Amino acid sequence: MNAKMLKKILSTGVLLALAVPAHAEWVRRITDGIMGTRITVELWADDKDKGEQAIDALLDEMRHVDDSMSTYKPTSEVSQVNAKAAEGPMHISKELFDLLVTAKEYSVITDGAFDITYASVGYMYDFRKHVRPDEAQIDKALPAVNFRHVLLDPKQQTVQFSQKGVRIDLGGIAKGYSVDRGIDVLKSRGFTRMYVSAGGDSRIVGDRFGKPWMVGIRDPRKGEGEVITRIPLVDAAISTSGDYERFFEEDGVRYHHIIDPHTGHSASKVRSATVIGPYATRTDGLSKTAFVLGPERAMEIYNRIDDIDAIIVKLDGTVVYSKGIEPAHGAAPAK
Ligand code: ADP
Ligand code: MG
Repeated sequence: MNAKMLKKILSTGVLLALAVPAHAEWVRRITDGIMGTRITVELWADDKDKGEQAIDALLDEMRHVDDSMSTYKPTSEVSQVNAKAAEGPMHISKELFDLLVTAKEYSVITDGAFDITYASVGYMYDFRKHVRPDEAQIDKALPAVNFRHVLLDPKQQTVQFSQKGVRIDLGGIAKGYSVDRGIDVLKSRGFTRMYVSAGGDSRIVGDRFGKPWMVGIRDPRKGEGEVITRIPLVDAAISTSGDYERFFEEDGVRYHHIIDPHTGHSASKVRSATVIGPYATRTDGLSKTAFVLGPERAMEIYNRIDDIDAIIVKLDGTVVYSKGIEPAHGAAPAK
């Protein structure tokens, strides 16, 4: 072979190498510290770099949601609303306005179990520091808890609280919302197979090449890896609320982070509730219902809503399923 030929072969080889696309693969990243929780992202990328860049953009979007919705941040839009909305109508971003409309809709669907004004009492709890309000403090603050106190004007895009003392907190919906926003970011970049989770709220788009994604539902009284069942999912969101997430015990009573809007006390009627549906905003918003209303009333509501399924672990440890996902007749329910 002469030098000229060798040069030709080499250059063709180089060209060929350039023409072959970077090999496609699953790109996965786990990030802590956004919305006080762990974000997990997994996506199928034709090009790893593009996958990583998309995950960067998703995390930016989630940080933006955190910055505008967190009540831990005094500068957030929600904190501004809490500071000023009792004084008069306050103009807010379209994003926050729409989410407040959605939150109200969930209050109606859940017979008031989901209520972002829980925070009018809820702000006095600090589960990490084992702090809770006494009865007198609860009684005084409780009249401010009612989603009807949040007045929304779509024409002016304003929010107003009908009375002093009202506070809102989107902690029961914001993680699910941020997952949906994150999914939108990935979809807009052309990705078609992905898993995104923020703590107990996850959403899946596409399958794993002919196989569903398997999502485990944790056993509320066992360690993190122990599941009561695994659910195969494609194109669905799933949220679990558990009484084991953020709690403390005092004199045998478990105080944890879901508040009954009617009493201002910790709502403890189930150990955990998992909701499956099309969007994580929705599954997140609906997963608190069972704690407040109890398994029977909550299951009635879940069964009434077409695009929702649910799995509830009752206080005695038994597991109940909504109509759409009852284990096959005769099969032993997962325990
Ligand atoms: P996580 O925050 O781990 O996703 P959940 O989805 O169960 O947990 O949501 C619990 C959060 O919901 C609480 O930390 C609080 O911010 C909020 N919350 C508590 N009680 C209510 C309620 N009755 N209605 C709406 N949101 C609530
Ligand atoms: Mg949640």
